[in-house]
Amino acid sequence: MIVFEKVSKIYPPDSAALQDISFHITEGEFVSLVGKSGAGKSTLLELFLREKFPSVGTVFFQGENVHQIPDSRLPEFRRKVGVVFQDYKLLPHKTAYENIAYVMEVMGAREQDIVRDVSEVLEIVGLLERAHHYPAQLSGGERQRVAIARALIHRPDVICADEPTGNLDPYHTRDIIGLLVKINELGTTIILATHNKEVINRLGKRVITLDEGRMVRDEERGKFMI
Ligand code: ADP
Repeated sequence: MIVFEKVSKIYPPDSAALQDISFHITEGEFVSLVGKSGAGKSTLLELFLREKFPSVGTVFFQGENVHQIPDSRLPEFRRKVGVVFQDYKLLPHKTAYENIAYVMEVMGAREQDIVRDVSEVLEIVGLLERAHHYPAQLSGGERQRVAIARALIHRPDVICADEPTGNLDPYHTRDIIGLLVKINELGTTIILATHNKEVINRLGKRVITLDEGRMVRDEERGKFMI
């Protein structure tokens, strides 16, 4: 489903953020991407999300070269891949409901579809009762649940989460990782970039380890070793 084929990314003039990265992620997998700060995790996700272009090599998604998708089909690609960030990226003056509805509004969705779909994703993340709270009225864990609900709104095939628990305490960290596991069990492929050792060791799922831009390990039921 996702293939990196001999991918390198050199930032000018000569900073090699990723070197010769190759791997294959199958539909329905839950893959963690670990490594110290600066190891290349964000760059790898940004290459997959087409926010950056590789210096060498090719990235495929569902058989297609991500960096050759024509502009006209980019919205379709973006709907298939949901993204979750460490800092949630919620609009402060919109409620949880409005933060998610907004994504559909800008695409011209009908009001009744918005009500149905937003309620559905809020239910998946367990936040229906807080739908009309503003981000400032929610805990960090709840804000991240809203962000995950927003990422789910187009029923993506993949969710990329870049340090989603970076701002959370251990209790909310477990809560958010549990939610990602549940979403994965419902069929969505998950790529989780983190440097949280506890999270990785408890998950017991595939781990790709980066070190200074190189892939040093790729293990099923991997442990955190950097
Ligand atoms: P991680 O997400 O694992 O912390 P990054 O992908 O952010 O790692 O960074 C990998 C390397 O690339 C680091 O050495 C970082 O300084 C460098 N880097 C990241 N973005 C840029 C950029 N826009 N320009 C130059 N160097 C960058």
